[in-house]
Parts: sequence; structure tokens; C-alpha cells
Amino acid sequence: MTSPTTKLVQSGIAWDPAYGAIVPPLYMSSTYVWPSVDEKGPYDYGRSNNPNRDLLSRALTELDGGAGAVVTSSGMAAIDLVLNLLSAGAHVVAPHDCYGGTHRLLTARHDQGQIRVDFIDQGDLDAVRATVSRETAMVIIETPSNPLMRLSDVAAICDIARAADALSVVDNTFLSPLRQQPLTLGADMALQSTTKYLNGHSDVVGGVVVANTEELAEKLAWWANAAGLTGSPFDSYQTLRGLRTLALRINAAETNAKAIVAVLRDHDKVTDVYYPDAGLAVKQQSGPGAMLSFRVAGGAAAAASVMESIELFRLAASLGGVESLICQPATMTHRGMAPEARAAAGLDETLIRVSTGIEAKEDLIAALEAALASI
Ligand SMILES: *Cc1c(COP(=O)(O)O)cnc(C)c1O
Repeated sequence: MTSPTTKLVQSGIAWDPAYGAIVPPLYMSSTYVWPSVDEKGPYDYGRSNNPNRDLLSRALTELDGGAGAVVTSSGMAAIDLVLNLLSAGAHVVAPHDCYGGTHRLLTARHDQGQIRVDFIDQGDLDAVRATVSRETAMVIIETPSNPLMRLSDVAAICDIARAADALSVVDNTFLSPLRQQPLTLGADMALQSTTKYLNGHSDVVGGVVVANTEELAEKLAWWANAAGLTGSPFDSYQTLRGLRTLALRINAAETNAKAIVAVLRDHDKVTDVYYPDAGLAVKQQSGPGAMLSFRVAGGAAAAASVMESIELFRLAASLGGVESLICQPATMTHRGMAPEARAAAGLDETLIRVSTGIEAKEDLIAALEAALASI
């Protein structure tokens, strides 16, 4: 069987039916000529379908081992798309420490009465069993969590959902399909913010939902067209281009992350390091990935000193690009959370999150060591 690395490099290569271009051309057209009034061609209108979006969708379907996929205009549009499968008042179970934008959307839909959401600690399978019932329509899973890299058991939670006839969907953005395969673990759907690792160059906002059956993929495509959630041709073009180097990028970024974690775990100014490289991670991931977080000794002032003095790592939210980024979740990505909720989640100001890029590891380690020495 051809390796995923090879398939990714080859995705869309030499597809061009018109001129045999090695790289697929970009089709920006919003509409297409009909051969006759009662017969349309393979493409008719850009919201419904587009060659560049189809190429990306096929590559992502294969990468996740699914039956079909829908490419959306953002990761949040991917989450909104799966919510469209639900009837009014449906019961949804989600992790209490899910991505902030997901938490905001689910909470707003709950407050409107469109769905009924329970946010729970999915690291506790008894809590999952106690919350998921015959009334439950969907279980949303996200592992590792942001920013503390807490893990939840995808196979076990999907089993609980299936026994209750609920759909299971995994937000796999932090690892990418090259490090975790939600559909193989039993999920009905796997989604990604392609903004992160899949595009990988911090120049596209996009998303995808991959489904494990054609029936589900067709329902998703119907809703994406009806609600206008599909991604743009140019974003699909860029993301397919990014995808060709996904394996190289993830390998390089993960190697750097492992080296950084080894330094941080031994550092006397660092009190805790969070990196998913043991326990459940070994069971359900094929590697720890390139996201990590840590706490510094010396309180908020110490963390501020690291954030202000660090070179090379750019102070920014987001993740999964070739460039290394650093952020302080309490004041940046999780600022919108109520202070009590933030404290309960363990997100104090000493916590620092890193998205490791693919720069030379000795440069990254030197920059981190210098910043820690500034404390
Ligand atoms: C970024 C992110 C999203 C949202 O994706 P956008 O492309 O920003 O809309 C959803 N889930 C996770 C885990 C993310 O990191």
C-alpha cells in the first residue's frame, strides 16, 4: 500500500485534464456553461462544487480513511456544519476544555435553545457514561486539549456514543491525521481547522469535515451547499499545496518539540511541562505532535519576562505553521473566559504555550534558554 507521505506529495499532481499541467490549475470561476438546458456538466456553481475544492477534499478523505469530505471556509464553519445535522433541541456532549471558539458557538446555540449542551471532563469516562444517554444526538471530542494537552480516550468515548445511537465527531486539529486517525478509532466524523497543520504556512483560514460513510458525507455536502459554508477555490489551492509537505513539516516540528521538551523538563525555572508523549497518547496517537505548554517558577512576573524577552518565537495565537509561535493562554487565547472558569481550568499567567515550527532546533533551544535566563 502506498504510504500517506507519498500520497500527500502526489495529491493533485498531473491531474489537469485540459493541458496536462503538473500542478492543478486554479479555477476561480463562480459559474460554468451548461451543455444544454436539461443537462449540466460536472461543475455548475462555485458554492456547490469546484475542482480545486474537490481535489483537496479527495486528498483529505484519503488521509483520514473516510468515505467523503466537505471543505469549509474555516474550522468554525466545519463545526457549524456538523451542528446542522442536529434537530432542534438535540442533546450535545462536548469537552469542558474544548477550543474557545467551539465553546462560544455551542454556548450561544444552547442559550438560543437550538441545542442542549453539556460540557464535561471527557478524561473521566464515568462522567461521559453518566452524561450520554438515549437522548444524546452528538458527542464532540477534542484531544489533546488546548493548552494543557489533556487526553481523552477516543475509542472508548466513540463506543459510548455508538451505544446511545449518537454521532461522534473528533476535532483533530492539534495532531493532524498523520498523528491521530479518529475514524479508525471509531468516530463517525473527523474535523480539522486546515488553518493549522494541513495548510501549515499561516496564510489560509479553512476547515474540513471527513465522514466515515457516504450517506453522512452526502448530508454534510447538502448542508454545506444549502448554508453556503464551503471553502474558496484559492484557499483550497493553497491548502493542497501545503498538504504536499505535511509529513515533512510534522516530522521536523515534532523532532524540535521533543528536543525542547527534554530541555524544559530539566530546567530549574520550569515547574511543569505538558506534552502528550505517554499513557493514552501512546495508545491512540502515532506521535506526540508539536504543541506543548509549560509553567515557569516565579509567578506572573517570571512569565512576563519570558514573553517579553524571547526571540525567534513570535508572540501570536494560532498554531501549526512552519514558524514557531508562543502565547500566554490566560491573557491571549483564553482571555474571553470568565476568570473563575480560567482558574478552574488551571490557566494561570505562569502557563506558556508553544507551537513548535521547523526552524533549526539549536536556534529554538538557545532562544528559549536565553528567555528563561531572563527570569
Ligand atoms: C483554530 C481551531 C479551530 C477553529 O478553526 P478556524 O480555522 O480558526 O476557524 C477549531 N478547533 C481547534 C482545536 C483549533 O485549534
